[in-house]
Amino acid sequence: MHIERIALDESVGKAMPPQLLVDALSDLDPTVELVEDGEQFGPGDAVVSFGHRDAFFDADWVHCIRAGYDEFPVGVYDEAGTFLTNSTGIHGTTVGETVLGYLLTLARRLHTYRDAQHDHRWRRPSYEESFTLRGERICVVGLGTLGQGVADRAAALGMDVVGVRRSGESVPNVSTVYTPDQLHEAIEDARFVVLAVPLTRETTGMIAAPEFETMRDDAYLVNVARGPVVETDALVSALEDEAIAGAALDAFDEEPLPEDSPLWDFDDVLITPHVSAATGAYHEDIAALVRENVAHIEAGETLRNRVV
Ligand code: NAD
Repeated sequence: MHIERIALDESVGKAMPPQLLVDALSDLDPTVELVEDGEQFGPGDAVVSFGHRDAFFDADWVHCIRAGYDEFPVGVYDEAGTFLTNSTGIHGTTVGETVLGYLLTLARRLHTYRDAQHDHRWRRPSYEESFTLRGERICVVGLGTLGQGVADRAAALGMDVVGVRRSGESVPNVSTVYTPDQLHEAIEDARFVVLAVPLTRETTGMIAAPEFETMRDDAYLVNVARGPVVETDALVSALEDEAIAGAALDAFDEEPLPEDSPLWDFDDVLITPHVSAATGAYHEDIAALVRENVAHIEAGETLRNRVV
């Protein structure tokens, strides 16, 4: 296989100014160009894209600029003989720092002071309200790039880090690793439960009413994975019934989160608009992955992050 053109689908604009990615790849041998909806593809074409279009099946290789490729019809790519790669491996620092930001905000009550600031109000917390992360247990569900990024940072702040991993094998900075069938045991003592799994058949609805019943009533749920990993109605009920203390949510069933969602109005729910991985250097991380795989293709080697 020989790549002659790298077509950057206009959807990359959802994650970065596309011209920055063009410039970052401009020294490669293949032509690099921005293409619009309606562009056709053929042999020798690679496509770099945020989302899927059926026309991509005619290209040799498609690179998804997200870690989660749940919106791509993987089986059809396989049948078409089109390589599909994703962008896992690059979000450990960005999402890791965002999650620690959520944790610090909730524990040190920073969101409450910011809320009060809007009303020019000098709000002091009740005596028991604030706590420190040091010594608190965090359970990280999914110990890949995101999960390890969170675990490393939580451990650095002195948290008691446990996690859930399919293999159950140990991971640096995680004191106990549970398997998915031990999910309840893993989350029952945690002050924070952080979801960092891909959206799959197994993970859809993995946090629902039974899990909220299992969690501590002073626990917080953090979802930086995908919306459907959590049953939203069960989450809203758990928050209304004070079965958990709050949440930090970056991913939702429907995005943007509809204006009439009840999730907007809880004092102890932090809503961020699917930006936990945001950084002004994203084009450089994506360019490095694309560059590495162009070299692999030219050398006839296995692609990094190959999905099919
Ligand atoms: P990754 O592939 O490096 O890690 C995912 C881990 O989850 C793997 O170790 C996998 O074995 C594990 N896993 C899968 N099913 C599991 C289960 N049932 N129980 C426990 N563990 C399970 O991927 P990543 O880069 O860490 O990203 C993870 C997901 O996070 C992505 O698929 C994407 O949906 C989401 N994500 C969101 C953002 C954001 O901006 N909010 C950014 C990057 C990734």
